[in-house]
Amino acid sequence: MSGRFRFKCGRCLEVYSHDLGCDFRVCLAPGPSDSGPSEVELSEEDLSVDFVTEEQIDLDEIIREQIYLSLPMKCLCREDCPGLCPVCGADLNKAKCECQPEKGHPGFSKLRALRLKGD
Ligand SMILES: [Zn+2]
Ligand SMILES: [Zn+2]
Repeated sequence: MSGRFRFKCGRCLEVYSHDLGCDFRVCLAPGPSDSGPSEVELSEEDLSVDFVTEEQIDLDEIIREQIYLSLPMKCLCREDCPGLCPVCGADLNKAKCECQPEKGHPGFSKLRALRLKGD
C-alpha cells in the first residue's frame, strides 16, 4: 500500500502532503459458524487472522486499518516546526512576532508571585 496523504500539522495547523507506504499481509479465514462452540480459544497465530463471515470481503476496511496503523503518532509539517505563537497566534513559520514567550508552564504562573516567609 502506498499513497500520498494530506495531513494537518499539529503545531502550525498548515496542511501538508506526505507519502506513506507499508507492506502488509492479511490472512483471511472462514469465521467460526454460529452453530459451533461459542468460545473458541485463539492461538497466537489466529490473532493475525481476520475472519470472514460474509460472502464478500471488504477490502476497504482492511486497507483503512493498515492506513491507520501506519499514520505517524505526531503530524508535523517538519520536524522543527515552531508552530503558532501561544500569545498572538501568529504562524512562526511565516513571521516572527514581538511576543515574549512566558517561561515555564502557564498553569504555574501564579506560583511565581508566591513568597514564602523567610525569603
Ligand atoms: Zn507545522
Ligand atoms: Zn506572538
